[in-house]
Amino acid sequence: MLNSYQRSGKDFDEWRWNLSSNGRFTTKKLQQIIEEKFLVEGRGGCETLRNNLIPKKVEIFIWRVLHKRLPTLVELDKRGVDLHSVRCPMCDNDVETIEHSLIFCNLAFEIWTRVYKWWGVGPYTNLSLAESFGGNTNATTTVIGSKIWQAVTWTCGYMVWKNRNNKIFRNKVWCSPIVVNEIQIISFDWISRRIKGIHLDWHTWLDNPSVYLCAK
Ligand SMILES: [Zn+2]
Repeated sequence: MLNSYQRSGKDFDEWRWNLSSNGRFTTKKLQQIIEEKFLVEGRGGCETLRNNLIPKKVEIFIWRVLHKRLPTLVELDKRGVDLHSVRCPMCDNDVETIEHSLIFCNLAFEIWTRVYKWWGVGPYTNLSLAESFGGNTNATTTVIGSKIWQAVTWTCGYMVWKNRNNKIFRNKVWCSPIVVNEIQIISFDWISRRIKGIHLDWHTWLDNPSVYLCAK
């Protein structure tokens, strides 16, 4: 891609390239191109990796998860990073694969269990990554219901990873009820801002969200 850059202008204050229609290079356009390329070429087709109820950064996070591009200790080790240990820094019960970090780790499992209970779609039984983030549950009866549920599961995975990093790199305490509370607040914020034609009610979201699984 570097070959298609062309510097121009007297003071080299503008970068030109031929990847946008007006020829002007902007980081915003670059970001958009990268995001589109990442998401559309995702395994399982774009339909399973696009969810417009949630920010792009979360779509990209899920893409990285499903393509084994998340820097868990096992993945770093595979790429030649010299590590003292590849055991899970959260529980020390197993090596830290992506599946372990986001699903099988005791702490992650507790979050999923609580989220499934909150939505009344339980019990959660250690699904695969693809199943966990696929948006399917027996309780969803509509396309938008499935999309809402998928957005919640993506938020869940994203927040599990974020809190894992906060604990490891910032020494923050992991507290499952607080993590679940963050998932409730953030998923409501993200989804209610983006969804069209459906009003999400905060109290219903907290106490009886399963009504949204059948939303039309
Ligand atoms: Zn663990």
